Amino acid sequence: MKQTRDSIKDIWGERTPYKGEWPERIDERVIEEPDHWVQSACVLCSTGCGLDIGVKDGQIIGVRGRGVDISNHGRLGPKGLHGWIANNSADRLKKPLVRKHGKLQEASWDEAMNLIVEQSKKIIERHTSLAMGFYTSGQLFIEDYYTLSVIGKAGLGTPHMDGNTRLCTATAAAALKVSFGTDGQPGSYRDIDETDTIFLVGHNVASQQTVLWMRMLDRLAGPNPPTIIVIDPRRTYTAEKATVHLAPLPGTNIPVLNGLLHLIISAGNIDSDYIEKNTVGFNELKQAAAEWTPEKVEEVSRVPADDLRKAGEILGKTPTLLSTALQGVYQSMQGTAAAVQINNIHLIRGLIGKKGCGILQMNGQPTSQNTRECGADGDLPGFRNYGNQEHINQLAGLWNVDPVIIPHWAPPTHAMQIWRYAEQGLIKFLWISGTNPAVSMPDLERIRKILKNEDLFIVVQDAFLNETGIYADVVLPAALWGEKTGTFTNVDRTVHISHKAVSPPGEAKPDYEIFLDYANRMGFKDKNGNPLIKWKTAEEIFEAWKECSRGRPCDYTGMSYAKLSEGSGIQWPCNEQFPDGAVHIYTDGKFNTDIDYCETYGHDLITGAAHTQEEYKALNPKGKAFLKSAEYVPPYEMPDDDYPLWLTTGRLVYHFHTRTKTGRSKALNDAAPDSYIQISEEDAAIYGIAEGDMIEVRSRRGKVVEPAKIGDIKKGVVFIPFHYGYWDDPERSRAANELTITEWDAVSKQPHFKYSAVKITKVKEGRFYEIEEVPKTIENKIPVEV
Ligand code: SF4
Repeated sequence: MKQTRDSIKDIWGERTPYKGEWPERIDERVIEEPDHWVQSACVLCSTGCGLDIGVKDGQIIGVRGRGVDISNHGRLGPKGLHGWIANNSADRLKKPLVRKHGKLQEASWDEAMNLIVEQSKKIIERHTSLAMGFYTSGQLFIEDYYTLSVIGKAGLGTPHMDGNTRLCTATAAAALKVSFGTDGQPGSYRDIDETDTIFLVGHNVASQQTVLWMRMLDRLAGPNPPTIIVIDPRRTYTAEKATVHLAPLPGTNIPVLNGLLHLIISAGNIDSDYIEKNTVGFNELKQAAAEWTPEKVEEVSRVPADDLRKAGEILGKTPTLLSTALQGVYQSMQGTAAAVQINNIHLIRGLIGKKGCGILQMNGQPTSQNTRECGADGDLPGFRNYGNQEHINQLAGLWNVDPVIIPHWAPPTHAMQIWRYAEQGLIKFLWISGTNPAVSMPDLERIRKILKNEDLFIVVQDAFLNETGIYADVVLPAALWGEKTGTFTNVDRTVHISHKAVSPPGEAKPDYEIFLDYANRMGFKDKNGNPLIKWKTAEEIFEAWKECSRGRPCDYTGMSYAKLSEGSGIQWPCNEQFPDGAVHIYTDGKFNTDIDYCETYGHDLITGAAHTQEEYKALNPKGKAFLKSAEYVPPYEMPDDDYPLWLTTGRLVYHFHTRTKTGRSKALNDAAPDSYIQISEEDAAIYGIAEGDMIEVRSRRGKVVEPAKIGDIKKGVVFIPFHYGYWDDPERSRAANELTITEWDAVSKQPHFKYSAVKITKVKEGRFYEIEEVPKTIENKIPVEV
C-alpha cells in the first residue's frame, strides 16, 4: 500500500507554509500499483478536490490528488483518501428489486421500469401530475440533475421536485439571492491565500472541509498569518485556532451578527462611497442593528460583550475579509436572515469582488450547487425566476414545449412541503434518488410513518439498500462516482469532470441513464411530437446544459468535456468574456438584481412572504445589492422544566452524510464507529455522568441512547452527530434525527437541526467505545427482506 501519510491520525498532514503561492502536495493512497489513472474529483464534501482514480484489473484501487487543480493543489483529506473503498463493497445493489407479497425481490430492469411507468400513468390519470413527487440529492452529477429536471418540468409538469440540498444548502442559495439577486458565490478559495481575516460562522471547516482547513493552516504557518474569528457553540478543532471564538447559545446568531454590524457601523468603519453607489437599504440596516449593544447581545446569546467588541474591531478594521458560513447558520433559527447579515458585513465595508475578499456561503454536499443550477431542487434551471414569464419562455424554447406545462404559477415545492403532501396523501408517487431521508430528515418516526404508507408508491434509486430503501416498492441500482462520466461544481464555482474509471457492478446504471429510460418509456414528447429529451450520452447532456446556462450567471458555454479534461477544474462563468473562468464575480459592484435578470423578487426575512414583481419594481435595485436587516425571533422550542437542555446536531471529520459510503470504509468507520452525546463537564457533574456511560436522550418526538463524551461544549448544550442510522446497528435507537423538530426557515425552507429541547438520563455505567473497535460487519446487519 502506498500512502503519503496516515490521514486518519494525521488529518491535515504536514504544513506547507504559504509564501506567495500555495505549494503543491500530492496526497495518495493506493492498495496496489495502478495500471492507469483516470481524472476525477472527490465527491465526499463540497470542497471538490481534484483527484485521479487509480485502476487495476477493472477495479478502483486508490486515489491521488491532482497537483494542477486550483481547488486542492494535490491535497486530499481522510474521506477522500479512504471513501472510494465503498465502490468495491460486496453489498452494492446489483439488480433492481421489486416488492412482491410484501418483500423486496430481485427483478429485471424491464419489470422494474414497467412497473414504475404503469404506476406513474395510473396516478397521473387519476390525480394529475400534481400527485408525482421527486426527492433527489446533492451527490449526483449535472448530467443526472438536468435530465431529471427536464422530466419533471417539461415532461410531467410537476412542481414537486427538490433535493436533500434543502437540508444542507438551501440557505446558502437563499442568502445569495436575497443580497445579490441570484445564487452564485462571489469569492474563491484563492481568497484564503490573500486575505487578512477569516470569519468562520457556524462552519467547523477543520472537520467538514479538511482541505480548505489545510489551506488556512498553511496561511497560519506562513508570514503575515490571517486573524481568525469563529462563531460556534462548541470548542472545535477550528475554534482552537481562533483569535476570537464567540460561542453563542443555539438559535442566537441574529443577535450576535446584528451586534457585530452595530459595532462596525457605530465606529464609522464603513465604506460610505461603496454603500451609496452599490447598495440599497443601509438606513434600515443601521436602525435594526442599533439596538444590539454588546451588553444586550451578551444577555441573549451569552457571548461576552468584550469578546464581541474584539471581533467587531477586527471586522471593522481589516483591509480584506473572507467569510464562510455553514450549517451552524443554515440549520439554525433564522438561517437565511443570519447568512444575509454576513453578506451585509462585506457590503458595508466594500470588501467584495476583489482579491482576498470573498464570501463562501458553503454547500454541504459535493454537487448541491448543481442541484440548484439545474433546477432539480425548488429552483428553475440556470437560476431563472419562476415569476418572470420571459424566463419561462426561454426554457420552453430550449425544450420546445408549450410554456404552460412548466410549473410556474407558484414557487416550486420545497422538500419539507413534498413530505407533508406525501403525509397528507396528496403526493402518491415519490422517487427518491441518492439520498437517505430515513436517517437525514428531522423527526424520523414521522418520516417512517410516511414511508410505510401503502398509498404512497416509492421508488428508491441508490447504490446500496439503505434505511430508506427497505420501505420502497421498487429499488433501482445506481452507479457510483467513478463508474460514470459527468461534471459537478464545488463551492467556489469550480467545475470538474469525473471520467468513468470502472464499470458499475452487476446491472447498476448511471442515474441519467435510468432517468432517460423512464422518459422514453413514458413517451414524453416536445411540441413537434419528437422525443422531449433528445440526448443519449453524458457529453450530449452537458452540451444541452451549456445552452440552458447561456447568458445566465452560471454560464458554462466556454467549457467542454475536452477543456475540463486538460488539467484543473474551471470556475464559472466561463464564456467568451471569461474563456478561462472568473476568480471573482461582482468585481465592478454590479449585482444580479436587475428585475429582468434576478432569480427572485425577494421575501420578507421574518415571515418568508414572497414579494411580487410589482413590489420589486418599486424597490428598483437596478444592479445594486440589497442590505436586508432582520429582527431577532427566538427559537420555536427552547429548554424548559421538562426538557432542560439544548440539543444541537452536526458532523464528524470521518463521515459523510448518513455513512452510506464512509461507513463502508473500515479505516473511517474504525476511527468513528458509533454515535455519542457530547455534554459539558458541568452537566456531567450535575447528572453524575462519566465518560462512556450510556445516556438516554429524549425530546418531545423520540429518544436515543448514546455513550457520553464529556467536555468542549457549553453548559446546558448537548451535541449528537447526525450520521448514524441503523443499517449496521439496527438494535439501538441512535439516529440524532429521532429527536429533531419539524420546523424550517421562513425563506430557505431549510429545517432546523441545530436546536431542540431535550432531557437526559443515565441508563448504564459503561466504557466509551475505543478507536480500535472493529465495526460490525455490514452483511449480517442490513435489515433486508430479499
Ligand atoms: S476535503 Fe472534501 S472534497 Fe477534499 S478530499 Fe476531503 S472530502 Fe474530498
